[in-house]
Amino acid sequence: NCLLEIKGLSATVGEEETQILDNVDLTVRQGEIHVIMGPNGAGKSTLGFAVMGNPAYTVSSGRIFFDGVDITDMAADKRARQRIFLTFQNPIEIPGISMRNFLRNSIQEITGEHVSFTAFNKELEAAMELIHMNPAYADRDINVGFSGGEKKKAEILQLLMLKPRLAILDETDSGLDVDAVRTVSSGIRAYMESCGGTLIIITHNAAITESLDVNRTHVLVHGRIVFTGDGDLTDEINKNGFEGYTYG
Ligand code: ADP
Ligand code: MG
Ligand code: MG
Repeated sequence: NCLLEIKGLSATVGEEETQILDNVDLTVRQGEIHVIMGPNGAGKSTLGFAVMGNPAYTVSSGRIFFDGVDITDMAADKRARQRIFLTFQNPIEIPGISMRNFLRNSIQEITGEHVSFTAFNKELEAAMELIHMNPAYADRDINVGFSGGEKKKAEILQLLMLKPRLAILDETDSGLDVDAVRTVSSGIRAYMESCGGTLIIITHNAAITESLDVNRTHVLVHGRIVFTGDGDLTDEINKNGFEGYTYG
């Protein structure tokens, strides 16, 4: 059954109401991995923001359904409580809040349930080990002074700890070296296996998906999904570029 169903979605940004997404259809079933590729400025991040309910983006037509519920007009915080999760292409730094407290607060916020320190700390330690993150980072302010690669790992840590039903990873692999891509990729796999997650991966990089079982690859150009193929399409595009995939 469908976890996410986007029907004819068009979205605009700003006061000029510049159209960015143009009649996008996308259906993602529970447990699937979908990859979205496309040139810079195509609207990939916008699609993530629209699903998440970022108020800077206006849905001008179409609907978004999550687990059968129309969430098109739902506030962003309510969507987070539906367990939809979006990483940021440029992760924010939050001075004064440790990663440990941020994660524990987030889980409590999203689930509405108290999380015991003991159980949480144990799980955090295991998750950090899995993605080869120095445990000392748990008590550093979130993302402050983190390298690009460390910020990306911090996102995967969120994924492992928050266990969203749907996760959208926006260029989580960009700027990572080969080893870090592998680590991030195994963290993603652990998320999929441990909690039956569902993933939309926005990426320019086939390496991240090599060890993942990708169901569909979508090519987004000028705000439109111009082509959808299977998992192998990712590799093909990395070799040949977007040239063959034009608008209309
Ligand atoms: P991608 O992630 O595919 O690179 P984006 O979704 O970030 O593309 O952007 C798509 C287009 O929308 C770009 O032309 C970008 O400049 C524009 N855009 C995105 N967000 C905003 C915003 N908040 N204000 C103005 N323009 C925006
Ligand atoms: Mg981009
Ligand atoms: Mg983007």
